[in-house]
Amino acid sequence: MEHPSISSTSVPFIPRSNTTTESNKTGSWRFLQPRYDEKTAPCSAACPAGEDIARVQMLVAQGLFKEAWETILQENPLPGVCGRVCFHPCETRCNRGPFDEPIAIHTVERFVADTALRYGLHPELGNSKSVQKEKVAVVGAGPSGLAAAYFLARLGYTCDVFEARSEPGGLLRWGIPPYRLPVSVVDREVDGIRSLGVRFHCGQRLSQDFLKALPKRYAAVFLGCGHYGNISAGIPGEDLPGVEQGLPFLESVRSGSVPSLEGTVAVIGGGNTAVDVSRCAVRLGARPIMVYRRRRQDMPAFGHEVDMALEEGVELMELWAPREISPHPQGLLLTLEQMEVVSEEEGRAVVRPLRGRTTTIVAAKIFMALGNTAEEPWLNPPTKDTSEVLRLANTVLVCHADGTAVAYGGDLAAQNKSVAHAIGSGKEAAIALDVFLRNGRNAVADRLARCRVGPGPSVSMEMYLEGERCRRNPHVVTFEEINTDYFLYSPRLVQPRLLKEERLQGFGEIDLKVSAALAIREAERCFNCGLCNQCDNCRLYCPDLAVCKDTSAQGRHINLDYCKGCGVCVVECPRNAMSLVENETGGRP
Ligand code: SF4
Ligand code: SF4
Repeated sequence: MEHPSISSTSVPFIPRSNTTTESNKTGSWRFLQPRYDEKTAPCSAACPAGEDIARVQMLVAQGLFKEAWETILQENPLPGVCGRVCFHPCETRCNRGPFDEPIAIHTVERFVADTALRYGLHPELGNSKSVQKEKVAVVGAGPSGLAAAYFLARLGYTCDVFEARSEPGGLLRWGIPPYRLPVSVVDREVDGIRSLGVRFHCGQRLSQDFLKALPKRYAAVFLGCGHYGNISAGIPGEDLPGVEQGLPFLESVRSGSVPSLEGTVAVIGGGNTAVDVSRCAVRLGARPIMVYRRRRQDMPAFGHEVDMALEEGVELMELWAPREISPHPQGLLLTLEQMEVVSEEEGRAVVRPLRGRTTTIVAAKIFMALGNTAEEPWLNPPTKDTSEVLRLANTVLVCHADGTAVAYGGDLAAQNKSVAHAIGSGKEAAIALDVFLRNGRNAVADRLARCRVGPGPSVSMEMYLEGERCRRNPHVVTFEEINTDYFLYSPRLVQPRLLKEERLQGFGEIDLKVSAALAIREAERCFNCGLCNQCDNCRLYCPDLAVCKDTSAQGRHINLDYCKGCGVCVVECPRNAMSLVENETGGRP
C-alpha cells in the first residue's frame, strides 16, 4: 500500500548555500526556540506494567534484542509471560491503530524474551540501588509477589518470598493451561528473579499467626497471595459430588493428575477461567457447554480465547443463568433460567430473568467459574481509612507507628485483575515501601506521583531510579501529533498459530514464536511516539543549518546563534519528540 501523500514529486526543497553562512546570525531574530522534548507514548501510558514500549520497538527495529530485553526488564520481570497472556491494553491505545493497524506489541515482547532466554543472556540493568540493611517479606509467589520481590531486590533489599504451593508462580503456574503459557517460561523468568538473590520458601501455608509474626523479623511485608477463595452461585445442589470449582480443576490439569473426562460437562461463568476449563475439557475428551448469564460480547474473557474455544468445539449458551443442580442417573441435572437484556451500563448488558423460561442440561460434571475472592477475610486490606492507611493506585499501604509497614497488592488491592496489573501493583508497592523506609509515610504519594507514566496509574522504576529516560515529558502523544507523511501503510504481523486439529491433540503451546525478521519488520512499523530515534529530520530540514551533530547521548544540539525559531524541525519531527517553547524558558535541554 502506498500512502497517498507520498510521491516522488512531494519531496520538499532543502535550502543550500554555496558560501559560508556563519556571519548571518539569524538567532537574533528568534522569539521561540525548539528543544528536544521526549514525551510519553500512549501504549506505555496504557501498559499496567509501565513499559517503555516506544524504546523497546526502536531497539528491536535496530536488531538490538538484548538492549530491548533489558529495557523491558527495567519495568517488568516477566516479559515472556506477559508476551503470552497479557490482554495487551497497550495495543488498544496504539497510535498506529487509527493509521492502519496497531503494532503487535505483545508478540514483539514475547519474541524479545524468548530470544534472550534461548541464548542464556544475562541482563545488565545498571541503575540498581546499593544494599539496604532492612529485610522484606513477600507473601505469595504469584505475579504481584514475584514483581514485588524483583523490584525490592533491585532496590537493594534482602527479600524472602513465602509461598503455600510447592513451587513459585501462583496463578501463572497453576491456573493458566500450558497451551497458553508453558511452565518452562514461568521457570525461566522465576530463575531470573532468583538470580538477584531473592529467596523462595515454598510449601509455607499462610496462617494469621504466621502473618502476625512477620513484622518481628522483617521491616516490611508485601501481601500478594491472590484470590483463591470461591464465589458461590447460591443455588441448591452446588455442593453435590461432581460439582467442582474451575481453578482447582486447572491446577490438577497443570499437575497432570486429571483422568480423562467424557460426556457433557457444563461450565458456569464467562471469564478466562471458564474458557480455560472448557478448552481443557475438550482436550480431555469431554463436550463442554459454557453457560453465561449475559451475552458473548459482555464476557470478561479475552475475545480471541472465546473465538478459539468455539472453534475447538466448546458450545456457548448466552443469557442463561444456573438455578438448581440435582442428581441424575447419568450424573447431574442442571436447571437454567433464561435471561433478557433490559439495558446497558458501560457497554455491558444489565439482565433480568425471563420468568418461566427454563431449560435443563444433563452433565457428567459441572464446573463453577464465577470468579474468586480472598481465601480468608483477614487477608483483605483494611476498609476503614485511618492515618495509617495509604490507598495507592494498585496497592494499599498500612504504615505502622513502629516504623514497619504492610503493603497489600495484586488481586487483594487492584481494581483490575490481570497479570500486568499484578506486576504494576508489585512495582508500586516496592517503590512505596522503599520511600516509606527511607523517608517516611508522608513522602510516599508525592514520590510515586513523580514516577507515574504519563497521567498514570502505572509507575516506572526507571524514572524512580533516575535512569536514562527519567525526564520524559508526561504528555501523551496523540495520533494528530504524529507527522504521518513519513509513514507508509503496512499490515500488522499475523501471529502464527497451530491449526485447530493440531491444537486439539494435546496441551502444546498454540501461539508460535515469530522469526527475527518478522519481529524487526513489525517493530519498524512503530511510530516511536515521542521518542527521538535519531532519524535526523530536524538537521536535514533546518534552513539555517543550526542543528549540529555531537557526541552527547542525544547526538545533536541546536546552535541558538543560528536558530531563528521558525519551528520547521518541530513540524518535521515525525514522532513529536521536539517542542517549540518561548525563548529562554529553561525546561528540558
Ligand atoms: S505487559 Fe501487556 S500492556 Fe504492557 S507491553 Fe506487555 S502486552 Fe502490552
Ligand atoms: S506507534 Fe509505537 S510508540 Fe506509538 S503507540 Fe504504537 S507501539 Fe506505541
